[in-house]
Amino acid sequence: MAKTLVEAARRMGVTDPRLLAAIAATPRDRFVPPRSVARAERDEPIPIGHGQPTSQPSLVAQMIEALLLTETDVVLEVGTGYGYQTALLAHLADRVYSVERYADLAEHARANLAAMGVANVEVVVGDGTAGLPEHAPFDAVIVSAAAATVPAPLAEQLAEGGRLVIPIASVVADVVTLYAKRRGRLERRRALTPAQFVPLVGKYA
Ligand code: SAH
Repeated sequence: MAKTLVEAARRMGVTDPRLLAAIAATPRDRFVPPRSVARAERDEPIPIGHGQPTSQPSLVAQMIEALLLTETDVVLEVGTGYGYQTALLAHLADRVYSVERYADLAEHARANLAAMGVANVEVVVGDGTAGLPEHAPFDAVIVSAAAATVPAPLAEQLAEGGRLVIPIASVVADVVTLYAKRRGRLERRRALTPAQFVPLVGKYA
């Protein structure tokens, strides 16, 4: 039961009923390594290999809520990990393209998503800081690792009116930040929450 994770998201201020339903319908124990299944229902990050974590679910929920996704949206996710966040995005949007730099993590994510019957997702191995120009523009972009600034290709590939969420690295903590594209320009909207992320590693990070 994903009920504890729904409660955790609510406690962090998440109210979008579609998102809360997606969390309720997504068993996180299917998106963590076998050795960690017993603690999958806890609202905490879990190691997935290569020194990478699958993020804290309530943090994932806050980031997704800020994207204001609709059923027709095409989403770009950078940092697939084990695919938990990908599954939630797939519930809320029309199509999700997700890029992961580690091939074995991408393979786990593909298997986890397929096992749950999630079909509107494509997981690509590569450097997500370059985006996926062949599938752009994206109505929403979500980045799961921290960078000093928004990688230029991601800003370019965001559709007019699109939303982008990324943790911006700073000395004390990363600041999860929401941007929107207006008149062809990326505008900073607001800080969502401080958090701790692994670094975004790539050409445009
Ligand atoms: N969103 C996922 C994973 C979070 S960990 C989850 O919550 O399960 C961050 C992930 O970003 C790691 O899997 C790491 O390999 C990946 N990553 C870091 N830099 C990347 C890049 N440039 N392109 C694609 N993936 C990247």
